[in-house]
Amino acid sequence: MSELPDIQARITAAAAKAGRTADDVRLVAVSKTKPADAVSALIAEGQLTFGENRVQEAQEKFPDLKAAHPALNLHLIGPLQTNKAKDAVALFDVIQSVDRPKLADHLARAQEAAERALTYMIQVNTGAEPQKAGVCVEDLPELYRHCRDAGLNVTGLMCIPPADRVSSPHFAFMGKLADELGLPHRSMGMSSDFEAAAELGATHVRVGSALFGARNYG
Ligand SMILES: *Cc1c(COP(=O)(O)O)cnc(C)c1O
Repeated sequence: MSELPDIQARITAAAAKAGRTADDVRLVAVSKTKPADAVSALIAEGQLTFGENRVQEAQEKFPDLKAAHPALNLHLIGPLQTNKAKDAVALFDVIQSVDRPKLADHLARAQEAAERALTYMIQVNTGAEPQKAGVCVEDLPELYRHCRDAGLNVTGLMCIPPADRVSSPHFAFMGKLADELGLPHRSMGMSSDFEAAAELGATHVRVGSALFGARNYG
């Protein structure tokens, strides 16, 4: 048995503190650096939502799994280069890391050409960290309008708070930003802080190492 039941129970308990239920918080199992076998093992336990941060790695792992499990739901949670937009659109169901207008334009063209309708989230750099992906808070409303006008179905926001800070204020802040834009989805919380996120309104928590064990890299 994996850590899955324990993680699910912790999500349920945290959500309940805020009067929410387990159905309100979807667990995205982050399988980066882990082999397809590890993914299959979780699928056998009923987990169908997975996250990967690199297109190429996902291409090596997921096409066969998706063919075998049509209900599998694959999220891209890492930075995306415009020249990989077409590949990403062909494989992923949700792209959580939209962070600039040019990328939105490439994704819009790619999904039109592929006749696929994905859903998208905009990644927000809530900590204003220079090296980190994500749109800065001031540019968020304009990027959201741009995505919508380009034809992307944006349903929410995603953030990765600064590693050396308490994440709760970032979760609360991102929730406020999503509220202002009328967006229902909030992807926030990782292995170290998914319970706080579930309590603060996360609709998606992205859990890797707590589920699969420590990574060697990534
Ligand atoms: C790797 C990763 C995660 C999962 O991290 P853990 O701490 O292992 O749970 C979540 N979100 C993003 C964007 C990641 O790259």
